[in-house]
Amino acid sequence: MAFPLRVCAICSEEFELKPDKPGFANRCPACSEAEGTEPVTKAGMDADERKSLKEANEARRRAMRDLLYRKDS
Ligand SMILES: [Zn+2]
Repeated sequence: MAFPLRVCAICSEEFELKPDKPGFANRCPACSEAEGTEPVTKAGMDADERKSLKEANEARRRAMRDLLYRKDS
């Protein structure tokens, strides 16, 4: 059974437009797949978040140390 041929809008390759093809009708299966596997969320934190987290940790450590010294003396 023949499917209508389409030209991919991304890579300009001809592909068969199958009824169950996922993704856009004007993109070949390979380009539809590439789009779908792109990560949705950015990994990790940005510099500001890292900095504030570091400062919070240092403040906590300092408070803890003050507490210990106060207990000792
Ligand atoms: Zn393509």
